[in-house]
Amino acid sequence: MDYRELLESIVADVRALTAQGAVADYIPALANVPRERCGIAVATVGGAVFSAGDADVPFSIQSISKLFALALALQREGDDLWRRVGREPSGTPFNSLVLLERERGIPRNPFVNAGALVIADVLCRRYLQPERAVLEFVHRLLGSTHVAIDAAVARSERLHSDRNAAIAHFMKSFGNLDGDVAQLLDAYCAQCAIAMSCRDLARAALFLAADGVQSPGIAVLDAPAARRVNAVMLTCGAYDASGDYAWRIGLPTKTGVGGGIVAIAPGRLAICAWSPALDAAGNSIAAAAAVERFAAATGLSIFGAY
Ligand code: GLU
Repeated sequence: MDYRELLESIVADVRALTAQGAVADYIPALANVPRERCGIAVATVGGAVFSAGDADVPFSIQSISKLFALALALQREGDDLWRRVGREPSGTPFNSLVLLERERGIPRNPFVNAGALVIADVLCRRYLQPERAVLEFVHRLLGSTHVAIDAAVARSERLHSDRNAAIAHFMKSFGNLDGDVAQLLDAYCAQCAIAMSCRDLARAALFLAADGVQSPGIAVLDAPAARRVNAVMLTCGAYDASGDYAWRIGLPTKTGVGGGIVAIAPGRLAICAWSPALDAAGNSIAAAAAVERFAAATGLSIFGAY
């Protein structure tokens, strides 16, 4: 299957949507990314990669890093991890604190900030240089070290991390964080500031389309664990728009406030689309439309063609 023409036509179609929504500016270093950027890439389990538009331009992966951090933490901790973080959609914004009091410091899922901070805490305990752990995991997935942390974005987020600090301290008060909050925030902001292109992201997420196997002989997760990460992506990967994404796209997805979306068609391929301007839930408008069109055109929704 050659997806090149389809991807070209999708980018041409959704470009007009880049004028809608707003580029994230609560992390000041993200505010200047040109809103007209738009790219898409597909990596197939057969080893082919197709792309169109700005698919080779690195962007801030932000919450998409939560996917890699979760896979790495699952590798190290196995199912014990689920004692500290849940698997339910939150129905609240990505950086909300409201459910934490009622649920005694256990975050709803690993893809809201609270859950990702618990995962980062696990990695801080496991690694001497936790701020590099997720980056090096991505390097292993890609078989290449060309991906880097954007230090300016990491610094900018760290300087504006009061809300994440509040979430971390609150969870610590319930005993669901072991480590030092400052070190945890350094690590978390660094992982969010990893810069990758659509092409890199589609390739790096491929193990989730292949039952946990990244390339012949390189098993990242066992098959049940990989399938379950897809389940959590479907139900929680797009914050409080996850239900709508399941309805529109029908694939496990993970979004980030940098404007990226990764989606998995199990057994077939991983896709990444990117465009910086976001809707009110913090998800890219044009990138979501691109993935939606791809899923519709290929009939790849996990529920059968929509
Ligand atoms: N680094 C961002 C934050 O913690 C990630 C949020 C996102 O991409 O949704 O606010």
